[in-house]
Amino acid sequence: MTQEKEKIYIVGNWKMNPPSLDDAETIFDEMENDAYRMRSDKIEAVICMPYLFLSDFDAKGEIKLGAQNLFWESRGAYTGEISSEMLRKVGVKYVIIGHSERRKYLGETDEMVNLKIKACLDGGMRPILCVGETLEERKRGEAGEVIIRQLEQALQDITEKDIYGKLLIAYEPIWAIGSGTTPSTDDIMGVGLLIKKIISKLYSREIVDSTPILYGGSVTSQNCFDLVDKTGLRGLLIGGASLEAREFVGIVKEFVK
Ligand code: PEP
Repeated sequence: MTQEKEKIYIVGNWKMNPPSLDDAETIFDEMENDAYRMRSDKIEAVICMPYLFLSDFDAKGEIKLGAQNLFWESRGAYTGEISSEMLRKVGVKYVIIGHSERRKYLGETDEMVNLKIKACLDGGMRPILCVGETLEERKRGEAGEVIIRQLEQALQDITEKDIYGKLLIAYEPIWAIGSGTTPSTDDIMGVGLLIKKIISKLYSREIVDSTPILYGGSVTSQNCFDLVDKTGLRGLLIGGASLEAREFVGIVKEFVK
């Protein structure tokens, strides 16, 4: 039996894709049909899909359901928003929070990210907190500073008990997303260690051990294994490659071997 500490998380982020429920079913069903090949207590496979499709899929299948966002209030006059209760009720287990595309296009701030993490935890789901620097910040040597700020502010007033066994952190250098370029495995390992250091300043050793750190940005079936094996991280957040069933299954299978 794999210990939680050793579990690998393979999380797909479909973003605003595919264009229809039919297409979503085709991709998801193909993944689920291959699920027997992915079955392992070592792996947790998750697909974070658009809200609209979530209730059409089996939340008890081999692949867990995730959302890409939520709102921090539980109900009321918040046009266009979705609450944690709504997501939990359709079987969502994981919620991506603070993705760089939401920070960039929707003006999501660290304060909003903090409120969303609290709402996600209150709703009984696991937040996947995204952090990462832009290319300019990296060139200016500010990557570490950015990640420290994003983490400290996102976790403000959140207790050890709140996040134990729940929080996941995804390091997603913004310049690596959708670009076909990834940082070196040494760079990723360095950021992983930095994240652990920040977490250990804020919380106990148990929290450091119980918080999986994932890498995201241009992951494919070709580079996925090294991005985990050579960095000491605990999984991957995958955009483009998660929209192709065969590619996503191929990535998961690399870790089942
Ligand atoms: C993402 O947007 O979370 C991501 C990692 O995208 P991609 O894999 O396409 O780079």
